Amino acid sequence: MPSNLKAAITRRGFFRFAAGASAAVAGLPVVTEGMLAHAQRGRRLGDPNHGVHIDSNENPLGPCDAARQAMMSMVPMGGRYLMNQESDMVELIAKQEGLDAKNIRAYAGSSEPLAYTVLAFTSPSKPLVIADPGYEAPMFSAQSVGAAVLKVPLSDPHGAAAHDVKAMLAAASNPGVIYICNPNNPTGSCTPRADIEHVVANAPKDTVVLIDEAYIHLCDAPRSMDFVKEGKNVIVLRTFSKLYGMAGVRMGFAVGRPDLLEKLDYFGRNFLPITATSAAIASLKQADLVDTRKKITAGTRADTMAWLKQQGYAVTPSESNCFMLDTKRPGKEVLMAMAGKDVFVGRIWPAWPTNVRISVGTPEEMMTFRKAFTEVMANPATAWMESPRAHGGKFGEGSTARWS
Ligand code: PLP
Repeated sequence: MPSNLKAAITRRGFFRFAAGASAAVAGLPVVTEGMLAHAQRGRRLGDPNHGVHIDSNENPLGPCDAARQAMMSMVPMGGRYLMNQESDMVELIAKQEGLDAKNIRAYAGSSEPLAYTVLAFTSPSKPLVIADPGYEAPMFSAQSVGAAVLKVPLSDPHGAAAHDVKAMLAAASNPGVIYICNPNNPTGSCTPRADIEHVVANAPKDTVVLIDEAYIHLCDAPRSMDFVKEGKNVIVLRTFSKLYGMAGVRMGFAVGRPDLLEKLDYFGRNFLPITATSAAIASLKQADLVDTRKKITAGTRADTMAWLKQQGYAVTPSESNCFMLDTKRPGKEVLMAMAGKDVFVGRIWPAWPTNVRISVGTPEEMMTFRKAFTEVMANPATAWMESPRAHGGKFGEGSTARWS
């Protein structure tokens, strides 16, 4: 057993993780965006059918029609294992991406390979290097194996908000994992290809550069699969949870050199639901789906961001389905007041305490957001106090607080 895993499953390691991660995300080091949003929102207000939920970077469109049909036609076959489904999906991904099937491992979402990569390659002597503000899930995994988390502020936070790759490389002499999220969650901003090339070329020999492309379909930024094709120490993550609208259906995959992927296998692999693999196959076969959905999200995002700018608020230059909004006052107050109006916006990152993350919902949802935001900004503290629904809710004290 690797020594870092041993550390993770000691009683002390487990409780350290559980205590910090809050009840909603305790128990296993596989943390998802949904858990983080839910932990902040509180159990009582977790009903996605109630209010406007723009706090988890979900896709309100859900699975495309072809994926829905594929899932429904699979239901009668649910009594069978249908072993070929997963390999068919992997073969299709390999063909579309110009990869070999042995470079791909499919999982129920990309949270698993994200956690497993950090668990496999970080340790008490091999830290995780991550951008700040950045996606928190890998930090939980690093913490669970006793690895240090080195947070490097985004460069030019009021402008491009890209990963500061030079500072990330300088942060540690022997990082286990350097995590690049492109586009970044929560800012939605992209890191230039030259910077990603720089980090891949200059990372220490044993360091894995983990490039999380959960949101890549929503933008035109260059993809990173070529690093894997060139045999670099790179693992790329993709998910069907975002553009493909399958967050609840669960499907994702890791792409890497076979020897790197084998290290992830230690943490477990399971047969994947045939509904999810069939929905993924059907989605991948829709030639125009990525472009169509990318345009839909981009349109709603542009309208919302333009409106916010007109009102005098700064937003990050997002190419994704989320962005950070500077509310010019404690973001937590705004978040709570918005929740009081049944509009649930994303959490706060301690490094940017006046910002809240906004996910891009439907045009109608974003109009509801505008109305609530206008009312709240007239007096956020009062809006919160007046809300009977909000009382007793535990907002803004979610899982990110421990990283401050
Ligand atoms: N990576 C990032 C940056 C995310 O924001 C998410 C989800 O929001 C994921 C990975 C994993 O999502 P899932 O497990 O649903 O594939």
